[in-house]
Amino acid sequence: MAHPSPPAAHDRGRSAPAPLDSAVWDTHPEPLPLSSAPLPAYGTGSLADLLPTLAAGLGVPGTTAAIPELTPADRNCVFLIDGLGWEQLRAHPDEAPFMTSLLAASRGGTGRPITTGYPATTATSLASVGTGLPPGAHGLPGYTVRDPGTGALMNQLRWQPWTPPGAWQPYPTVFELAHRAGVHAAQVSSPTFANTPLTKVALSGGSFHGRLSGEERMDVAAEQLAAADRSLVYTYYAEVDGAGHRFGVDSDTWRGQLMYVDRLVQRLAEQLPPRSALYVTADHGMVDIPFDEQHRIDFDEDWELKAGVALLGGEGRARHVYAVPGAAGDVLTCWREVLGEQFWVASRDEAIEAGWFGPSVDERVHQRLGDVIAAARDDVLLIASEREPRESAMVGNHGSLTPAEQLVPLLEVRS
Ligand SMILES: [Zn+2]
Repeated sequence: MAHPSPPAAHDRGRSAPAPLDSAVWDTHPEPLPLSSAPLPAYGTGSLADLLPTLAAGLGVPGTTAAIPELTPADRNCVFLIDGLGWEQLRAHPDEAPFMTSLLAASRGGTGRPITTGYPATTATSLASVGTGLPPGAHGLPGYTVRDPGTGALMNQLRWQPWTPPGAWQPYPTVFELAHRAGVHAAQVSSPTFANTPLTKVALSGGSFHGRLSGEERMDVAAEQLAAADRSLVYTYYAEVDGAGHRFGVDSDTWRGQLMYVDRLVQRLAEQLPPRSALYVTADHGMVDIPFDEQHRIDFDEDWELKAGVALLGGEGRARHVYAVPGAAGDVLTCWREVLGEQFWVASRDEAIEAGWFGPSVDERVHQRLGDVIAAARDDVLLIASEREPRESAMVGNHGSLTPAEQLVPLLEVRS
């Protein structure tokens, strides 16, 4: 990130409260103004706008071409590479020669970034892609969020604890709309995702084809594209994200994954049937976070941040904070002071008003959002070493509003 990290507001390692004299409080930096937070390009160039644009080009009722620059095609394929942000792709042209070639003017120069949505996380983004709706409407607004029905956290990616999917996300997917309109719709992904609730609410409609290997997925995606005169096909690859989480976005393992997925894109591009458009995109980017106390603030060790908090949701760079009854205002004040310039800290109403989750937030989604919402600006992470030991140990992270996380490629190949 370009921003220099501000000095730590105070010593986080202490166990006893510091004296509350004004000299201590005066060392807190000014809270970050919310107006400085970059907003996702909802309605003009976000992940939620992609499938409706393709479906509108196929004449599917109920869909709108929100990205008018995309030329309609009869056969449309979206290849979603989990975790491959625009900035990370641009920083590694040698590992991704084919995708990089798609950016060149000689190929039409069609490659450009679009934004994900907030938060920049897989469950939220897959729902945005599949439903064509921003998070405030589809209602998967975080990695974990509070279920107002039970009062407990629900993990949106693993769908734990199980919650009735159709009530949680009641809208039809774009694949369902396309299928009803006579367009051949198909998803080609890992067999393990065939019947998951997340697949059901985000990606169902038409037929699901589970294939273990990336090569087979590309081949089946090409077959499905060719299976009808008008088609809408989705395919997916997960391991760029996995390598980034475990080893970092510039690690050998990550770069090896980028080289591999670049060859997958080429394999699919070379098999496109006539009158096709292939769009390569991603669900979020990623940032590496150094392993020290200045960059990894531990909620479980911080008495100030914990005060008045009933539940900690979201993830390290995109937190939903649920306060005990009556404490929301105090929690907001305290989080602003403690996190200073390192996080944008908003109340639920402020985040809704600012449009972080889209132009509006459905009534059923309101109480899933934190009373306080904190989005990381710098290369910092709000971990929870006791509650979330596995997540707290990850090298690469994502979720927030920064360009490294929000910008994802939209690369186009046409036949
Ligand atoms: Zn991830």
